[in-house]
Order: sequence, then structure tokens, then C-alpha cells
Amino acid sequence: MSEDQPIIDPWAAIKIDDYEQVFREFGIESFVPYVKAFPDAHLLMRRGVVVGHRGFQLIYDCIKSRASFVVITGRATSGPMHFGHKMVFDLLIWYQRHGADVFIPLSEAESYAVRGISWEECRRIGLEEIVPSLIALGLEPTARIYFQMDTLSLLKLAYTFSRKITLNEAQSIYGFSGSDNMGKIFFPFIQVADILLPQLPEFGGPRPTVVPVSIDQDPHIRITRDVAERFVSEYNFVKPSSTYHKFLSGLKVDPETGKPGKMSASDPETSVFLTDPPDVAAGKLLNAFTGGQPTVREQKEMGGNPDICSVFEWLKYHLIEDDKKLSEIYHVCKSGDLTCGDCKSYAAELIYAFMKDHHRKREQAKKIIHKYMMQP
Ligand code: SF4
Repeated sequence: MSEDQPIIDPWAAIKIDDYEQVFREFGIESFVPYVKAFPDAHLLMRRGVVVGHRGFQLIYDCIKSRASFVVITGRATSGPMHFGHKMVFDLLIWYQRHGADVFIPLSEAESYAVRGISWEECRRIGLEEIVPSLIALGLEPTARIYFQMDTLSLLKLAYTFSRKITLNEAQSIYGFSGSDNMGKIFFPFIQVADILLPQLPEFGGPRPTVVPVSIDQDPHIRITRDVAERFVSEYNFVKPSSTYHKFLSGLKVDPETGKPGKMSASDPETSVFLTDPPDVAAGKLLNAFTGGQPTVREQKEMGGNPDICSVFEWLKYHLIEDDKKLSEIYHVCKSGDLTCGDCKSYAAELIYAFMKDHHRKREQAKKIIHKYMMQP
């Protein structure tokens, strides 16, 4: 860990304009070569959402040689998942279909220490809102989902790791302030333990591990790679790899930039939640910010701008799998042959159908949650 590196605060709402510059500063590599290497790359890979990595060659080699590897990402039990969260689990499911052992910690420690949510509410959110959606998205029951506080070996591992990291080192990565509570200061060790837990003998032993995260979570990755090295003689850990995805835009315009703003769990109008009724989800897309012209006549004359349009972003990242179909919409938008009203109606129809199906699957999933929950 270098004390000279700038700090990214994983608990703050950050906005990044220049990913390449951030990658250079933090030593993150481009994911582009791997997009070309996978003939069936996930759409979030081939459409430029997954943009960076650390140590991904290990994972690529495992997929190619069908060797054992792990994919892990957690979900804070602070509320239902929105589509920004969904995309991470879409990637997890892709890795599962490519041979990964999947681990999903439900992060009640963070929700309790940082957001002040009671333990009981954390558990309710986990079991009633998050896990049914994960199953409904297509996760297979070989996945292991667990509550952090139920998992004694995790807590023991977190405490073990904390012995070799000083407060100064944690401070240089996270930039804690004097008013932060000790729960928040200890929490990173639980997250480090989440990532390395699958490498304990009882969970499958040392093997490559990939953690798909947004760039704001990189401090957790850096400290974990460092801890893996410091404890290699005791545990024989393989240093974990990571991939980095861009933040997706929200549905509302940012008044400062005139472009779509951030997706935020605390502002329900900026995103669609996986628990939203289908008509509410469709209504949100019908009201979304577009890159269209003020009038239909101007749209026909000048065309729209899909590159700044949140509706197009939803079609691109969530609703249209077929690259050819997406390209057609892009071009008829630019040529002025598509009006925003028709385009939004189409996006609303797609999300309505998705949500209807998702709710049906969620109800079925509630009956089989026990198959996915790892026993303490
Ligand atoms: Fe966006 Fe569609 Fe309007 Fe083009 S036609 S600006 S893609 S809503």
C-alpha cells in the first residue's frame, strides 16, 4: 500500500469523467483485450461497461482451461436492488455459466455500521428483497449466499487480518475521519475476509478469484490484494483479481451538466428497482431524460442524440441483447426517423415485460431460498 496514492472514498457518491486517468493513477489495466478474446463476451463487456481489471489473466486462463475459480461480490442489505446493482449480478451469472464458484455475502455489517440500519431490518431486506431477485435473475443453487454475521469463520478471518494492518495504513487507503465510528473502521477487514474466505480449505481452497466492482470499491480490492500477500505463507492465498465497471446513468437530468445524472438508491426516480411494479417501472422510462430535440419537427430535421440519452442507455445496457437491433435504433434516432415518444414507448414495453416476468420468478424464488443460503 502506498501512502502517496490519492484516496477514493468507497462510501461517498463519486462521479468520474475520465476513467483512463483514474486507471493510470491507480495502476488499473484496460479490459478491452479480453472482450475480443471471449467469443460470447457478456453485453456489459462488449458494450464498454466493464472497462478495467487487475490480474484478470488468471481468470481468463481458468475459463479457457476449465480450471476452478471463484467469483464473489457482496450486496449491502440497505434496500432493494436497482438496475445498477443488477448488472453486477448479471456478470456473476455469466461467470457462473463459465465455471465459477459463486459467493455472495449479504453485507449487514456495513448497513449497520455505516447506514444505521437495524440488524433485524438488514435480515428482512436480505431475505425478502435481495435474495429472491438474485434467484429470479438466473443464479444457480450452487451459489453460496450468506449473512456476514452468521459466518464465524469469516469473522475470525477478519480479526486475523486486522492484526497485520495498522491504523495508518487503513487511513492512507480510506481516509477515515476522527468522527467515523469503529464499526466503519473495522468493516474493511470483513470485506477483505469475504473476498478471501472461499480460499479457505473448507470453502474450496486457494484458487483464482475475481471480484467485479465499480471503481469506487477499488480501495477494498487494493487492501485485499495486499493482505493476501502478507498472509500467503499461512494460507497460500492466490492474490484476487478484479474487474471495474462504469457507473450507469440515472433517468433524470443533472441540471449542472444537462446530461443524465447518477443512479441513486436514495432517489427512487433515478432508477428502476427490481421490486418496482411493472407499471411503475414503465412510467419511469416514459418520463426519462432523452437526447431528443424540443419538437417532433426538429427531431425529424436534425435527429436525436443517443449518446447523451438515458433511454438509449437503458436499451443498450439492460433491455436489448441483439447488437443489430440496437445499432438500428441508434441510426434511426440520429437520422430523425424515430421520435422520442415512440422510442420511449418501446423501452417502456420492454421493461414492463421484463418486470412482469421478474416478479413471477421472484415469487417462485421465495420458495427455494434455503437452497442458496450457506449454512453457518
Ligand atoms: Fe433517445 Fe430514442 Fe429519442 Fe433517440 S429517439 S434521443 S434514443 S429517446
